[in-house]
Amino acid sequence: MATTNRICLLTVGCLALLSAGRAFGWGADGHHTVGAIADQLIAGTHAGEKVHAILGDFTLQDAAVWADCAKGVDPKKNFAYTAAGAFAACAIFETPAGEAEMSDFVRRNSTNCVIKAGEEICHKQYHYSDVAIQRSGYAPGTVGTRDDDIVQAVVAATHVLKGDATPAPFDIKSPREALLILAHYAGDIHQPLHVGAVYLDATGAVVDPDSGTFDPSTATRGGNQITVETTAGKKRGNLHATWDAVPASLRVPHVDAAWVAKAHAVPASPGDIFSWPAQWATGTVLAAHTALDGLPYGAEVGHNWSVVLPTGYSSRMTGTKRQQLTRAGARLAQLLEAIWP
Ligand SMILES: [Zn+2]
Repeated sequence: MATTNRICLLTVGCLALLSAGRAFGWGADGHHTVGAIADQLIAGTHAGEKVHAILGDFTLQDAAVWADCAKGVDPKKNFAYTAAGAFAACAIFETPAGEAEMSDFVRRNSTNCVIKAGEEICHKQYHYSDVAIQRSGYAPGTVGTRDDDIVQAVVAATHVLKGDATPAPFDIKSPREALLILAHYAGDIHQPLHVGAVYLDATGAVVDPDSGTFDPSTATRGGNQITVETTAGKKRGNLHATWDAVPASLRVPHVDAAWVAKAHAVPASPGDIFSWPAQWATGTVLAAHTALDGLPYGAEVGHNWSVVLPTGYSSRMTGTKRQQLTRAGARLAQLLEAIWP
């Protein structure tokens, strides 16, 4: 798999760390924004008290990057944490106890799932699904869904916080671990390219992976294998990373009363809380449709495609990012308040 062109959003040091994996969802900035919105929404509530009791000194904003920081644990080095100093956002977890906590999670969540050829170790797969943009929503069984995907990961963490047993194949040992990962996955499940995907043939034409026999070579891995190019042919990173990045206007210093009020107005999801993650993912698939459909994809070269983003795409993308970050923060808070009314 071509991975060297992936852009990492925490620090430059993470290129090496991520050489065998996908780019981080939203990047640290976006995840911090999601956590900060949720922190403000649950302040003064019973859910806020429970979160404080479980996480101690950490806020949801802090916890929101934990599951990405845990990718710094290397199974090939006896599950040692090998990224110390590489990520500013992870520094708060880089104590002996903090590194042991990440190591323990990865040790229990590396080979507990069915790993098909070309797939990542289990816990790295918890961060995404690859539902084709032709689908009208998230439905288990379609190409790009798995029993260890982002939707099922949010469901599993919710079960643990409700006091239920952890659904297989996940291994979540405590409410604290569940809350640490949920604070992160709530962001990922709203990043369009973490849930939806475009599948392309060798000419760059969009194909439907659920029609006929699925050809794995059409997978773009959430846009990680689509290089963004300028009209002059200059490479500008990959499409997944382009969506992970958030501009300054969407970072924590801008999470003000007006933004929190917008989050407060996000409608509650209907039905049972365990059905919420699939509902949220369906909305994100629709956002992915807008993000990925109709783009001028180039022909495949070395299992990598290219794209030139059309005029106006960047400002539309920022609007979608704001909408999805707002939903993520709001829904994380709504879920926690439903668990602890
Ligand atoms: Zn992630």
